[in-house]
Amino acid sequence: MSTFPARAVVDLDAIAGNVAHLATLAPRSEVMAVVKADAYGHGLVPSALAAQAGGATWLGVAQLAEALTLRAQGVTGRILTWIYAPGAPLEGALAAGLDLSVGARWALEEVVAAARASDRTARVHLKVDTGLARGGMFLTEWTQVLAEAMVAQAEGLIEVVGVWSHLASAEDVTSPVTQAQLEVFTEAVARAEAAGARLEVRHLANSAATLVNPAMHFDLVRPGLAVFGLSPVPGRTPTDLGLTPAMRLEAEIMLVKDAPAGQGVSYGHTYTTTRDTVLADIPLGYADGIPRHASGVGPFQVGGRRLTIAGRVCMDQVVLDLGRGARERAGDVAVLFGPGGDGEPTAQDWADAVGTISYEIVTRLGSRVPRVYVGTAGRAAQELAEQERAW
Ligand SMILES: *Cc1c(COP(=O)(O)O)cnc(C)c1O
Repeated sequence: MSTFPARAVVDLDAIAGNVAHLATLAPRSEVMAVVKADAYGHGLVPSALAAQAGGATWLGVAQLAEALTLRAQGVTGRILTWIYAPGAPLEGALAAGLDLSVGARWALEEVVAAARASDRTARVHLKVDTGLARGGMFLTEWTQVLAEAMVAQAEGLIEVVGVWSHLASAEDVTSPVTQAQLEVFTEAVARAEAAGARLEVRHLANSAATLVNPAMHFDLVRPGLAVFGLSPVPGRTPTDLGLTPAMRLEAEIMLVKDAPAGQGVSYGHTYTTTRDTVLADIPLGYADGIPRHASGVGPFQVGGRRLTIAGRVCMDQVVLDLGRGARERAGDVAVLFGPGGDGEPTAQDWADAVGTISYEIVTRLGSRVPRVYVGTAGRAAQELAEQERAW
């Protein structure tokens, strides 16, 4: 038993199974498992290896630092990273064999300079902004940057292996925005090929587009949330979509005590007992990523019953009103969320309760909460990587 009285239990076989399912939905595309943000809170390296065991031939991370961590931990295969700022250590990125996104002219200049300095050919994915108005270049800049990229490619400094973009409303198949983005993307790809790019992968689809919009699949799909078994499509559950949530968050009850009617509970006494009852103290709080907005609304399962947080979420603790005659004891397990098959709340229930999305519920889970892995997917690769590091 760990010293920390709570844990996120992560099912590696669920991650592998979700990737395998996504691959069947996009049979003509490769799968890039997006494992940014510590694999959406699930743990970067074990999740990445489980995703590879499930058939992901690519990994995607936002931050360059995350990509370098994957390599330093012995993770092989293609890895794409798309967030770095001017002055980033791109020679190190090339030495690590990373694929780099280029979404601005300065980025092309810096990648070319790093390739020249390190005598390597950089694998580049040019990013077109098809309408999200976030990363990437609008078509107005595209042709000029393409021309510059082709000069660098002719010199052997870079190879433009990909053209890619990101959708604004992928979950809404009928959205005219999605249709317009597809048209811009098609135009950007055509211009790149006409300019002389020999593209290995054209890619546009996140989880939602992978699940519900085959027209967006192209050569490679980039699911993140769905890899972890959560649904990006409002009104459709993971089960509806053939996915299995991989994380279960639970804590030991730390203290159980009788309390009288009329007792105010937690900071500010925003909850008051209405009768003699039993209170339980749960050792997780907003320092662990439990939203403070879950005060009075966050759901739990204890002893088969659904309960709601009594009063305010504190930094390290929350209180539950177990009800009169409750038989729970200190050490019994309280479940915050899981796949839902045993009647426990889901990450989506938490998102609904606090007015956010399931992405945020799992991703914000604090670093002091231990991740405990069950299942075998990717375990052999993990042991191999550990051995190699030990050497
Ligand atoms: C996060 C991200 C993804 C994955 O998105 P999901 O909705 O979690 O599937 C794909 N591509 C890019 C560029 C991203 O930033």
